[in-house]
Amino acid sequence: MKKRLMCLSALFVLQPLSASADTLIHAGKLFTATSDSLQSNMTIVIDGNKIVDVKKGFEKGGADDTVINLKDKTVIPGLMDMHVHLSSQQGPGSYLEPFTLSEADYAFKAANYARKTLEAGFTTVRNLGDSYNETIALRKAIEKGIAVGPRIYSAGKSIATTGGHADPSNGMSPALRPDVGPEDGVVNGIAEARDAIRQRYQDGADVIKITATGGVLSVAKSGQNPQFMNDELKAIVDTANDYGFTVAVHAHGKEGMERAIKAGVTSIEHGTYMDEETMALMKKHGTWYVPTILAGEFVAEKAKIDGYFPELVRPKAASIGPLIQKTFGRAYKAGVNIAFGTDSGVSAHGDNAQEFALMVEAGMPAAEALKSATIAPAKMLGINDQSGSIEKGKLADIIAVEGNPLENIQVMEKVVFVMKDGAIFKQ
Ligand SMILES: [Zn+2]
Repeated sequence: MKKRLMCLSALFVLQPLSASADTLIHAGKLFTATSDSLQSNMTIVIDGNKIVDVKKGFEKGGADDTVINLKDKTVIPGLMDMHVHLSSQQGPGSYLEPFTLSEADYAFKAANYARKTLEAGFTTVRNLGDSYNETIALRKAIEKGIAVGPRIYSAGKSIATTGGHADPSNGMSPALRPDVGPEDGVVNGIAEARDAIRQRYQDGADVIKITATGGVLSVAKSGQNPQFMNDELKAIVDTANDYGFTVAVHAHGKEGMERAIKAGVTSIEHGTYMDEETMALMKKHGTWYVPTILAGEFVAEKAKIDGYFPELVRPKAASIGPLIQKTFGRAYKAGVNIAFGTDSGVSAHGDNAQEFALMVEAGMPAAEALKSATIAPAKMLGINDQSGSIEKGKLADIIAVEGNPLENIQVMEKVVFVMKDGAIFKQ
């Protein structure tokens, strides 16, 4: 390849030389995400931040090319987690944090967790809710090379109704309770719903996140009641469409979920109490399902510990948590579009790949699970022309693991090589 370039440049002096040497990855096994099988002994040719070729055999390359030897590894496209919260991580003291942490505190936490996430092989994430738009700032910092982390699609602060799952004033004494509105992610009625979407456009968000039903970890009674009216949902989706936003929807209960699906949202997160009717509705509307089984397992486990959660939260964690994996298994069999997501920040950042084993255990074949974390989310985000698979012309977001993930999916939990945008972050 290099030889040909040199030859051409000698003949056509005015043609610009290829600015940089190529990087060649020798992959012992390769999962491209364009098929369900592994290919053996392949070379991926990278120029700058792009994959320029994928060839059979191990290409030697030219004198100034860099060869990365992954002959005893399985090479996979960079992973995508469609549901993370980079600014925090659940622990016994979490409920005090809104009173004790500043915007800067959250930003530093987010930077730390972003690095961990990238080192775990996740080169793209959707951040579905922060506190002060700190993950929008982090996205910009990563793009500029000031911070290290995955490509972030940030929702900024997620949107709820008063007392709803993402109302930041939940659980506070009336004396301390702040007056929250659309900017803080609390809306009531059509006008405020529109206001909140436009505010996020101004803030530089990439996606909209709403909480359409109660949730587990909020200090509120119900984990599944519907929390938006149909006219509010319509206002959100219509306004989001005007600004090119997709809409991600936290939902556990059936009624709130179905209202959101009918309003035309992009994805349902968690989806715990969806039934066959809901699944059929999702297929009809092309709605994606982001399961977050790992978060369900985590909260169910912690609910057994006295004092870990506030008493209002504990029964919700114990009852909702264990159901998600079964829901996922049924949704997969029903043929609902599935995009990988963990809700990391509930479970620890960097443990994201533990979701794979839970998916496979619930009946999804390993190759499908890998595609759900690569090409599927790329389609959901509308970036499958540039990422999500290892193919000529796509961005060089590439990872590697020891062993064969199609035989043992848990090898995904130990990523040994990470390249994002053509740059190596772990080797
Ligand atoms: Zn979440």
